[in-house]
Amino acid sequence: MASPRVAVIGAGLSGAACAQALQDRDIEVEIFERGRAPGGRMASPTLHGRRVDMGAAYFTVKDPSFIAIADGWVARGLARPWTDSFDVFTPADHDVTTGPMRFAAPGGLRSLVRDQLPCGVRVEAPVESLDDLTHDAVVLAMPDPQAARLAPEACEWVTYEPVIAVASGWPDRSWAFTDAAFVNDDPDLSFIADDGARRGDGAAVLVVHTTADRAQTHLDRPDDAVAPVLSALRRITGIDAAPTWTHAHRWTFAKPTSTHGDADFGLGATGRPLGICGDAWSPSGAPRVESAWLSGSRLAASLAAMLT
Ligand SMILES: Cc1cc2nc3c(=O)[nH]c(=O)nc-3n(C[C@H](O)[C@H](O)[C@H](O)COP(=O)(O)OP(=O)(O)OC[C@H]3O[C@@H](n4cnc5c(N)ncnc54)[C@H](O)[C@@H]3O)c2cc1C
Repeated sequence: MASPRVAVIGAGLSGAACAQALQDRDIEVEIFERGRAPGGRMASPTLHGRRVDMGAAYFTVKDPSFIAIADGWVARGLARPWTDSFDVFTPADHDVTTGPMRFAAPGGLRSLVRDQLPCGVRVEAPVESLDDLTHDAVVLAMPDPQAARLAPEACEWVTYEPVIAVASGWPDRSWAFTDAAFVNDDPDLSFIADDGARRGDGAAVLVVHTTADRAQTHLDRPDDAVAPVLSALRRITGIDAAPTWTHAHRWTFAKPTSTHGDADFGLGATGRPLGICGDAWSPSGAPRVESAWLSGSRLAASLAAMLT
């Protein structure tokens, strides 16, 4: 009997994990990605000669199955424990907070998505309509607002909020925090990361994430966010040098504003099976890299059982 064929739309971590777990169960997978490269919100483009993490800042681990994946990445040098302590800037204070270990990737977080992909990806291949696909089942592995365009009635979709990430190169690493800083109660910034500390090469590169409100103002022209972001960076950290370069990236659908409750994924079986995964499917309530991986791999187990 011929193996079932599944179209996985979206080559972020949830799509990669789903495709890998389907292939492990002898299911043929074809992956469609509308961008120029896999990675999704774990993007690490090359800027001024080195990879810079412009999406997710780091990942944390909790679930045993994801711990096993992360252990494998660490053992092979693809990921490394970065830090459990971040600075915290508030309008009144500058402190340090300790939390879970945050992991980073020397080659950029996108390298972890590539590592999970079981086969080649059809890049620059946006799927505009599910009717164009002849596969036995389809998986939507992307932010809800993008999935809703392809299957508006499939479930109750959640909304996402935007972030603009601004990377900047500096003459040297002389800033008043160690690895990264949460910025609380600020109208412009929410997070600042030292990309050289994170990636481990010591480059004098910062990546700043805006608040959703600041991003909303500049969604049409993200480059216009650079000046207010640099001004906020000076106000918050006291940094007084001028950057040697800057680069802005718009994430229109950066973070879900809620989740799908206790559900790990969506799977509809009226007609052709339609699976839905991504970081908004997060029973832990914390939509992030780990929940994207869990959602994709758990969907694959149920979809494979349905198809075989
Ligand atoms: C600025 C920012 C900071 C973050 N910080 C952290 C952090 O510090 N820690 C953490 O754990 N998480 C963080 N996250 C969240 C984390 O990046 C995501 O949870 C995770 O990467 C989501 O993976 P995903 O596969 O669900 O979706 P995505 O990575 O968004 O992948 C979806 C893919 O689908 C593609 N696609 C969409 N529509 C179509 C279509 N019609 N046809 C073909 N392809 C399509 C997209 O191009 C994309 O590549 C952050 C995210 C952002 C944006």
